[in-house]
Amino acid sequence: MPRVLILHTGGTLGMSGEPLRPDAFSTALTEAVPEIAKLAQLEVRIVFNLDSSDVGPRHWKRLACEIDEARQDFDGFVIVHGTDTMAYTASALSFALLHLGKPVILTGAQRPLGALRTDAKRNLVDAVELATRGGEGVGICFDGLLLRGAHATKSNVHDYRAFDSPNAPPWARLGVDVVFEDRQPRQGGSYTFRPDFDASVMVIHVSPGMPADYFRDTFKSEGGIRGLVLAAYGLGTVPTASPDVAAMVGEAVEAGIDVLVVTQSAGNIDLDKYENSRALRDVGAISGGEMTLEAAVTKLMHGLANFGDRQSRRTYLLSNLAGERTSP
Ligand code: ASP
Repeated sequence: MPRVLILHTGGTLGMSGEPLRPDAFSTALTEAVPEIAKLAQLEVRIVFNLDSSDVGPRHWKRLACEIDEARQDFDGFVIVHGTDTMAYTASALSFALLHLGKPVILTGAQRPLGALRTDAKRNLVDAVELATRGGEGVGICFDGLLLRGAHATKSNVHDYRAFDSPNAPPWARLGVDVVFEDRQPRQGGSYTFRPDFDASVMVIHVSPGMPADYFRDTFKSEGGIRGLVLAAYGLGTVPTASPDVAAMVGEAVEAGIDVLVVTQSAGNIDLDKYENSRALRDVGAISGGEMTLEAAVTKLMHGLANFGDRQSRRTYLLSNLAGERTSP
């Protein structure tokens, strides 16, 4: 029987009360969903028990270390996680555990395990099943879909279909049968364990008339940010007159900050296409291609923690490591 390690980190699935709070939760899992013990030989560990809005870089590191240490002993891994930041954790682990050679499946629920009409049971059974199926990579399993971790985003707070993968097909669909649709070829390369992230990254969402000058002092302040993810319009355009967001980005780059551009829509960045996107390219911003905001934030944090010089960080950010981008 395959061996699967379930790492519990919190989230609605294991919460109770009003308002919902993380609950004491461990063997309850296997008691509430006995089916999963038929699929695999299970071990359940509580790594932490948090609303996922409190999960960040140091928790990603703990999870990555836990999986790295256990990688010889298990065939696959399931992480029970809150939905709010699940896509960040999935993206972060995609970079931290590159070419692990085993599946790491994150799941959670919109309604707690003990609630009527809960989606927790199905999601857990599906996730454990997927963790026994081999393959490599980090995925999010939710409502009958398996999505690539570095392509997934939380798209709905009310529906059971809480996640979407706007720029990539699902990795698998779990209906009557489990059908793998995207058999993403292995990128090649040996297992690379890099669990560190530098949290000094912020996101600026471009909006009409934004007070771009407001950020200028922040860029120059000591102990300030080292990375900026800019969520631009369309293919990567920004206002260049009044306000002049491209000039603001230029000052950030000059202050030593790496600027990675993603789009507020689905699709790819193309900094060459418009004058108002070239303006970003010309001041040294880096195209985030088709990366989700979650993939861009975590990859930038990962690049800053693991690559000392700016040029190698740029090369790292532009490369496709875990299937997170196909375009330059
Ligand atoms: N606030 C919860 C969390 O992310 C939401 C959920 O799990 O669905 O931890």
